[in-house]
Amino acid sequence: MLENSILEKACRWIRPLIKKIQAYQVADASGLIKLDAMENPYQLSVGLKQQLQVQLSGADLNRYPDPTASVLREKFRQVMQLPQDKTIVLGNGSDELIQMLAMAVADTDKDVCLMSFDPGFVMYKMIADFVGIKYVGVLLTEDFSIDMEKTRAAIKQHCPAIIFIAYPNNPSANCYNKKDIEEIISIATGIVVLDEAYHPFAQSSFMDRLNDFDNLLVMRTVSKMGLAGLRLGLLCGHPKIINEIDKVRLPYNINVLTQTAAEFVLDNVDELDQQAKLIRDEREVLLEKMNAQQGLQVFPSQANFILFRVLDKNATDVFESIKQSGVLIKNMKADAGLLRNCLRVTVGTPEENVAFLAALEMAMSNEK
Ligand code: PMP
Repeated sequence: MLENSILEKACRWIRPLIKKIQAYQVADASGLIKLDAMENPYQLSVGLKQQLQVQLSGADLNRYPDPTASVLREKFRQVMQLPQDKTIVLGNGSDELIQMLAMAVADTDKDVCLMSFDPGFVMYKMIADFVGIKYVGVLLTEDFSIDMEKTRAAIKQHCPAIIFIAYPNNPSANCYNKKDIEEIISIATGIVVLDEAYHPFAQSSFMDRLNDFDNLLVMRTVSKMGLAGLRLGLLCGHPKIINEIDKVRLPYNINVLTQTAAEFVLDNVDELDQQAKLIRDEREVLLEKMNAQQGLQVFPSQANFILFRVLDKNATDVFESIKQSGVLIKNMKADAGLLRNCLRVTVGTPEENVAFLAALEMAMSNEK
């Protein structure tokens, strides 16, 4: 009884907004073909894995890591062709970088807001909630393009501290019009972050535009390249902004094993590039086959996943039937709005995709 009242007192301090939030949900994929989380389905080759083991066994686990991960940042600079006068800060996944950005601008005394597009990557809003600032999601058009009229008005009305633009967007998989993005960067009242998480599959980037816009930051991650388990993202841009963001970074946020492994893989990045090419090729095969399936609206993709709408059936029934056949994809769970009756599938290996297509065909031929 006493214990309970102490517990009550302790919980009273949790902010009402946090109590209301649903924790980020990760589906259990045990025993299923996992096509729900935009991972690269390929492992490193046996040869590289063996060399990596040697590197990892030499890592000094008794010591704190290099606090600024200087060797790793230099390798990123070369591999990602970062302009010389720009700087990089690393995060424990790009999720942590989004959090650092939000923390750096969150000022509860001021009317600070983060802006992005809806439907978009859910973490932008979640993190705005975590740090207690407003989030504005500007509605995309029916084909998931940016509605420039609405965007201009929203920038004018809300003066966002940061605008996040996922390029390509998650969950719609498309790259927005470059001219629209340029205009947004020009009229923005603050920082604009181009979130290029899916860059290996889009091969279109704003990295080479960093010199044109001082308020532009480009964010990338190694997660979709094939190293989701490492948790490592990078944010590049003008040193004046990046150095401020760096101040809210926790010391030693990139652990020794991640630094060692990422340095090694970046020295052998050709292997990941080849995997990305296989995935891009497979995406085209999957798009073609899905487009041939009756009863679906399949959206174009420049990423490693495909968004599709189920037309004359309930998407949740189709999702469950596909899962019954042993394949886990993502149910967007929307009854209305732009994602109504939509599902999202990650491009897997050719064998996984064949299994998914068979499961999809069966689900679509079900009575229900
Ligand atoms: N940005 C976008 C657009 C994403 O879809 C994701 C992950 N799904 C992330 C960032 C986060 O990536 P990371 O694994 O680096 O935290």
